[in-house]
Amino acid sequence: MGSKKIAFTTVHSPDHHLEGHPENANRFKHFRHLEDLPTSAEILEITPQPADEGSILKIHPAQYLEALKQAAQMGPGFVDYGDTYVTPASYEAAFMAVGGVLEVLDAILDGRAVAGYALVRPPGHHTTHTKAMGFCLLNNIAVAARVAQAHGHSKILIIDFDVHHGNGTQKIFEEDPTVFYISTHQSGIFPGTGYLQETGIGEGKGTLANFPLPARAGDKALFSIFDRIITPLSYRYQPDFIMVSAGFDAHWTDPLASLQLTTYGYYQLAQILTTLANSLCEGRLLFVQEGGYDPNTLYDCVGSVLCALAGDSPPINDQGSPPYSETSIEHLLDQALSIHGI
Ligand SMILES: [Zn+2]
Repeated sequence: MGSKKIAFTTVHSPDHHLEGHPENANRFKHFRHLEDLPTSAEILEITPQPADEGSILKIHPAQYLEALKQAAQMGPGFVDYGDTYVTPASYEAAFMAVGGVLEVLDAILDGRAVAGYALVRPPGHHTTHTKAMGFCLLNNIAVAARVAQAHGHSKILIIDFDVHHGNGTQKIFEEDPTVFYISTHQSGIFPGTGYLQETGIGEGKGTLANFPLPARAGDKALFSIFDRIITPLSYRYQPDFIMVSAGFDAHWTDPLASLQLTTYGYYQLAQILTTLANSLCEGRLLFVQEGGYDPNTLYDCVGSVLCALAGDSPPINDQGSPPYSETSIEHLLDQALSIHGI
């Protein structure tokens, strides 16, 4: 039997901060004491280190890194037409975020932990090879996928349940059959990508799946997609490693979007993912933080996921229930089943 421990790290990046911006250091303000998390017995605390440049170069070209470094040095400022800021500390923060993910990955790869959670910022899933956007500077999970592959885990499944489509991760892997990217997200919001009909390009055909959800979809919608489509797709693919882009901005309390997941729903989702990883790849499961902009909800949801990973019962939370009844997604499910040949 291998380790039952859950590797966990936090990269706060306190100086990658813009007052009043939703993605600032206040997001992690409740994570000061690891021992306060609802589960602690099985947590292996990992000290983050900056990522080595060689790992990041597996995804981002040197010219991009140089441009990002210069933009940060000249900061504070913005690196896209939207709302992606940098400060003089952002380049180092971005390397530390990737590094935190890689250290947790390493603990899984060498057997110190069976699964892991990297609570890092800035987030990553909107960044393409050469373009920062959507509050993201380096694509943390994409780098982790390449590093895991370099360690012999050739097929990586990335499941992204952030409320926004991970356009960067899709772009990076859409022609690559060795990484299957699956995203659930709210349709019609930033970044406006991630269509149901997209299933990959060229050799990557069949290793991309998008589930754009209508506003007010919630736990029931997510569970039915996992049950009827994502689980069969995962079994068909037979991954060697499952990585999760974990954004909690699909929670009903989140200020940036209008899906209605609950804290308990995320707990159940983490249970489903744990079961999948146990059945398919000896439990290898890495959660990487993406969005989630209500600090209280973020804290509760991370705690819930950790409890699920450790096999503990769910923590008590008093946030109550979503305000609206759920939108039906039967039509979407029928279309998706047909598109993916299930
Ligand atoms: Zn998001």
